[in-house]
Amino acid sequence: MSIVVTGATGHLGRLVVHQLLEKVPAEQVTAVVRNEAKAADLAARGVKLAVADYNRPETFDGLFAAGDKVLLISGNEFDKGRVGQHTVVIDAAKAAGVALLAYTSAPGSLTAALADDHRATEQALLASGLPYTLLRNGWYHEVYTENLAPVLAQGAVVAAAGAGRLSSASRADYAAAAAAVLTGEGHENQTYELGGDEAWSFAEYAAELSRQTGREIAYDSVPGETKLGILKDAGVPEPLASILVGVDASIAEGELVISTGDLSRLAGRPTTPLAEAVAAGLKG
Ligand code: NAP
Repeated sequence: MSIVVTGATGHLGRLVVHQLLEKVPAEQVTAVVRNEAKAADLAARGVKLAVADYNRPETFDGLFAAGDKVLLISGNEFDKGRVGQHTVVIDAAKAAGVALLAYTSAPGSLTAALADDHRATEQALLASGLPYTLLRNGWYHEVYTENLAPVLAQGAVVAAAGAGRLSSASRADYAAAAAAVLTGEGHENQTYELGGDEAWSFAEYAAELSRQTGREIAYDSVPGETKLGILKDAGVPEPLASILVGVDASIAEGELVISTGDLSRLAGRPTTPLAEAVAAGLKG
């Protein structure tokens, strides 16, 4: 029996593997990666590597074994049909008879187009009949705090989210929840709505940036079309820019406020405050 993590060389996957290594011996962990060289640090810690690509179903042949617990981390290739990619993994897991397939999804309340791939993947997983866990991850703090240069240059946080609030959490928090599910008991056929303990607004986020930088950072609430133009001018391709503007609209509607407490419960500790992620982001 192995614990198998796909997308293990991504930001979230790497954190999950690190947290698993605090709970189980390294030989019980398999990292599924596209590029072995990128996973040299994981291999050095004794983690087994399996090379596979969601776009090449044959690379998943025989990768899983009966009894494995698998974390399918959603892909980031929006133009390559993520539902088909995820289904490749689900089909291989089904053929092997894994004990659990956990999937990093999106909040059930999210109506933005971004959620479509996640809802369709959830349906494919449920239809497979496999024991599943839906980790419906809310937003990452790092979506905002990892790229502060433009915000600092402009002296403004620009969003098309009005006074909407969201309960983001750090990637490490979501990784802790995933590691708890993969190493714990009783998570079969459960759906967890995961988000940070405290919701915040963009005005509050701008105020926190001002406090920590000692500079005046404003919140510039703009219409969706303006945000779309800004993203396109910054070189974001139109389909992705539209998706991101759709997320802002969902935030305006409160769709990314998650108040279940599932994340801190699974992680076994409070979630990381936004202020901590801001401090980390400012340090670079
Ligand atoms: P990330 O760093 O971009 O990692 C994505 C991972 O997916 C990478 O390991 C990547 O492999 C792997 N991957 C992509 N296409 C693949 C393919 N065809 N075959 C095999 N592996 C493939 O993203 P993250 O920050 O870890 O987040 C994980 C996922 O959460 C993202 O992919 C996205 O679906 C979703 N997400 C959520 C939020 C949020 O706020 N909740 C924000 C952004 C993204 P390589 O390492 O080889 O590139």
